[in-house]
Order: sequence, then structure tokens, then C-alpha cells
Amino acid sequence: MRLILLGPPGAGKGTQAQMLKEKFRIPQISTGDILRQAVKDDTELGVQAKSFMDSGQLVPDDVVIGLIKARIKQVDCEAGFILDGFPRTIVQAEKLSETLTDMSLAIDVVVDLEVDADEVINRLTGRSTCPDCGTMFHEESRPPKVQGVCDGCGGSLAQRQDDNEETILKRLEVYQESTAPLKEFYKKGGNLKTVTARGSAEEIFSRVCEMVQ
Ligand code: ADP
Ligand code: ZN
Repeated sequence: MRLILLGPPGAGKGTQAQMLKEKFRIPQISTGDILRQAVKDDTELGVQAKSFMDSGQLVPDDVVIGLIKARIKQVDCEAGFILDGFPRTIVQAEKLSETLTDMSLAIDVVVDLEVDADEVINRLTGRSTCPDCGTMFHEESRPPKVQGVCDGCGGSLAQRQDDNEETILKRLEVYQESTAPLKEFYKKGGNLKTVTARGSAEEIFSRVCEMVQ
């Protein structure tokens, strides 16, 4: 199964992608995670991406398209994959379609997670992530058992650089302008499914699964 998760920052794409990955045993491909790792490792890609990410802007299309092309050709993607945070522009979506067509493949379903803007701000400001295993927590809705410590692996939780109010507002603006038009793009293609991203992660997941099966 080849799946795209669409939705604004804070809609819960990462959480749903992790749950889908467990259920369907296919890799989660998050351009945000790949880029954050590159920044952490201080690679050429990371140096290129950092200032865009810190200010809430998109990393240039050719950079992320190159990343995705290489990633979906790896063997672990043969049975399918979950794209989380890509595509984010019409150009990225067009290049993805072209690449898949060349490989005689196609996207099966695009799940759009819908959520209100004020809810998004609350989710993002309270969120922390385990840098070691990627598990996400939230101070209200999903607090860790011990403050600042990952329940799963004991790693020390960190807030993302770009989860501050100013950058969040910029990311929402960029989403409206560049990414929201993808809903129309995929609606025309006939495989857009809309899911209300309200309630617990488990509740949202059961709605997502109904759409996917
Ligand atoms: P969120 O969806 O919560 O904003 P992500 O982890 O998906 O977070 O992305 C974080 C940042 O990484 C973005 O603000 C952007 O700078 C960069 N990024 C991630 N994916 C893409 C993409 N497909 N195209 C351009 N930039 C991207
Ligand atoms: Zn962890």
C-alpha cells in the first residue's frame, strides 16, 4: 500500500504514520525527520535545510524531491510506504507522480487530516519528542510517565526548534498557501479521503483505517 498523509502542521501526521507503520509493516517516510537528522549530523543537506526549517519556510523543492526519489527506490519500500510531510507543494506532487509512473507504481490513497488552527497551535506548543526513538508526547493529551523522559526507551525528550509560536504561525501560513492546494490536486485524481483529526490518536487512527481498507 502506498499512502500519503496530508494536513497542517500539528494535525498528527507523524503519530498516525507511526501507527500505520506498525499495522501495515511498511516504512514511514517523513521528510521532516530526514531533514532534522541531517541537521543533527551536520551534513551538507542539513546545512542547506536548517535556516528554512528554523524560520518555518519550506526547504527548496529540488532538495526534497531528490531525497524522496532515492528513498522510495530502496528495497524496504517494495511493499509500500507512508509519506508523511511530502508532498508539500504542487511541484513536489507532480514530480512524485512522474517518479511513480516511471516505476509502474501509483499512490493508493491520500488521507487528509482536518483540524482547526487554534487546536494546532495548542498541540504544537505542548509537544515534545524522543530524539532516540521518535515517540511523541504532549503535556496535556499524552504526558510521559516521568516528565522529560521517554516511556519507551528512556531517552530525554526535546522540544522541536520550530515548535515556538512565531514559527508555528509561519508554518501554518506556508501550509495554507503552498500545501492546502494539494487537496484539490488529489481530489481530481480521485483518491483523496478526508478524516476529522479530533479526539485521541486511537480514535483518529480507527477513522484513518476505515478510509485505508
Ligand atoms: P510539520 O508538519 O509539523 O510542520 P515536518 O516535520 O513535516 O513538520 O517539517 C518540518 C520542516 O521541515 C518544515 O517546516 C520544512 O521546513 C521542512 N520540510 C519537511 N518536509 C518538507 C517538504 N516536503 N518540502 C519542503 N520542506 C519540507
Ligand atoms: Zn524514546
